Amino acid sequence: MENLIESVQELIRHEVNDVHGINLDEVDYSLQRVLGLVAGGTACKWAWLSMVVGDRLVPVAAHGCASELRERSSSPEWAVIDSGEPIRVHDLDDLDDNGNSLFSVQTRDVCSAAIYPVFSGHQEKTIGVLAVAHDRPRTFPRMQQRVIHDGVRVIEDMLALRRDSIRDPLTGCFNRRHFDRQLVNEWRRANRNHLPLSYAIIDVDHFKPFNDTAGHSEGDQVLRRIGGALSARTRRAGDLVCRYGGEEFSVILPNTPGDAAVMLMDEFRRAVQEMGIPHPAFDSSPVTISVGVSSASSFEDVMNNDTQFYMNEADQALYRAKQAGRNRVVAAWLDESDVQTMVGAS
Ligand code: GH3
Ligand code: MG
Ligand code: MG
Repeated sequence: MENLIESVQELIRHEVNDVHGINLDEVDYSLQRVLGLVAGGTACKWAWLSMVVGDRLVPVAAHGCASELRERSSSPEWAVIDSGEPIRVHDLDDLDDNGNSLFSVQTRDVCSAAIYPVFSGHQEKTIGVLAVAHDRPRTFPRMQQRVIHDGVRVIEDMLALRRDSIRDPLTGCFNRRHFDRQLVNEWRRANRNHLPLSYAIIDVDHFKPFNDTAGHSEGDQVLRRIGGALSARTRRAGDLVCRYGGEEFSVILPNTPGDAAVMLMDEFRRAVQEMGIPHPAFDSSPVTISVGVSSASSFEDVMNNDTQFYMNEADQALYRAKQAGRNRVVAAWLDESDVQTMVGAS
């Protein structure tokens, strides 16, 4: 049971970080400051921001109180998410006799509240709620509604910028900055929980001649397809796909032993080949990729090395894959003679 709760929490933490760019492992002072301003501008005791993750409302920042996770229910917060319209409660007695527990805030004293939807860019969908609450009955005059509304807009802009700042615009994969940060986080987690961690680096074969022959925009299209296919195949909590540079992608595979990482990457290698993207400089034979994999599989591995060590190892394995003829997956822990008989060496 404890394990299940931990893995749900892990999933939520990853989701909130990867989707919204909010790191739940740290206090988010900039979101808290906005909540502080909104609470001050509406003369409310409490303010909080919660984000939607599947059927859960996850607390991400709060002012003057703590807020808690809420499963989907008939609460006012969920009504705001579903309708996309704000709700203002002037006196909780109007609403429900045991109204306090209706809100995801950890105080029994809520008497009045205003809950506003937070939208993703272009108002497409509700991604969270911003709420203020007070311990006495009250109305929310137009000026105060304006303050909440402006606070919501600021938060929406902040979140949109954060989402953009962790993604590569061409492929939609994560960018290198986010990857480097997450690799350190995953490393610490693997260390703490004594779990294996694998890492792979993927490079498109003969991509320069592809660009030179088919043109740069055709090349961009290939990178989009490969990035999309890679993201679609790595969907476990914590799996992270990044465009590391030019035509290189890298992948973090938490809680994945080396041999499983090699199998996953080899399936992907085959899938790219089977896409059958014709390479104009090689008689239209399919575009292929080469992959280097490294893995910290034991407690000793994790204790004796660092992330840089494993990135270098994967890089060297990739180099060996290229040397051995490309279109293959090479594991850093195999020696030279094994590379020739590795999976994918076809
Ligand atoms: P190898 O099999 O050894 O990896 O050969 P390669 O030709 O792929 O290697 P090289 O590193 O020489 O070439 C990488 C090429 O990737 C250079 C450039 O034409 C292409 N490239 C890098 N970034 C982009 C990009 O953003 N878009 C496009 N279309 N091409 C890119
Ligand atoms: Mg390259
Ligand atoms: Mg290449």
